[in-house]
Amino acid sequence: MTTSFKSSVFRRLEGKVALITGGASGIGESTVRLFVQHGAKVVIADVQDDLGHSLCKELDSQEAVSYVHCDVTRDTDVEKAVDLAVSKYGQLDIMFSNAGIAGKLGSTILDSDNEEAKRVIDVDLFGPFLTAKHAARVMIPARKGCILFTSSMLSTIVTAKAPHEYVAAKHGVVGLTKSMCVELGAHGIRVNCVSPYMVATPIFQKIASGLNKTEVEKLASAASNLKEAVLEPEDIAHAALYLVSDEAKYVSGVNLVVDGGYSASSSALTDAIENLLS
Ligand code: NAD
Repeated sequence: MTTSFKSSVFRRLEGKVALITGGASGIGESTVRLFVQHGAKVVIADVQDDLGHSLCKELDSQEAVSYVHCDVTRDTDVEKAVDLAVSKYGQLDIMFSNAGIAGKLGSTILDSDNEEAKRVIDVDLFGPFLTAKHAARVMIPARKGCILFTSSMLSTIVTAKAPHEYVAAKHGVVGLTKSMCVELGAHGIRVNCVSPYMVATPIFQKIASGLNKTEVEKLASAASNLKEAVLEPEDIAHAALYLVSDEAKYVSGVNLVVDGGYSASSSALTDAIENLLS
């Protein structure tokens, strides 16, 4: 293997600067690790300062990683995070707008809490709007860049008991992806989103306390379409790596659903037909 081939395979983000919101935990944390491994300089933007700092400390052997406190619902926080990426590393090539919260599992439209619903929409839709806006501010003059959002499989198929505000916000993220891809294409900027099936991350501790990682994975596997595989945060990080890398240089406006075919299947209808035929 030639050196340049090896480096393009193993260092796919060499020379790039990425900002990852929600980078202190779960999918974001895995993506921080993978992007750094592939040669990117990364700014982790999150509200969990202790986790963010310790990840930064663990990875920062060559000043490649920084942490900034950033609540994605606050314009000035997002502005500061983007400006830090540019002042510290000279540019911003990749905005991975991934931070999110889940809302309350199981609430009906009638018993849903208005303030809680507003908060979910604020973090999960307005947050991506702000992060994309500030990324565009520095990417437009550079005439290059890549914005990636984390939506959800729930943007394509809805399961019962999912919080309405979460489903609505994640559909909104797909709309934002398409809308921004149309405007920013003229400036050489790509905009995509990735939509995961259920991944056992700390988000579940907040919505279903008591469920540990193994139990979440068991639940996900029981309902999955693709058997013999468990979806892990690293799998979403790899999908993100593809979408932000030069291999995807002509991919824009896409919602990459990483759900093992779940959204293509209808288990209820399959069960009904199997019952009919048995
Ligand atoms: P997680 O809880 O491990 O990570 C979410 C991160 O976002 C946390 O570090 C949290 O501190 C941060 N965050 C929350 N509110 C914030 C705010 N206002 N400002 C900045 N950071 C904030 O969960 P995860 O599963 O890794 O979630 C990452 C993304 O993936 C979310 O957008 C989530 O909706 C989406 N997602 C997750 C799943 C899943 O099954 N885990 C499935 C589909 C989509």
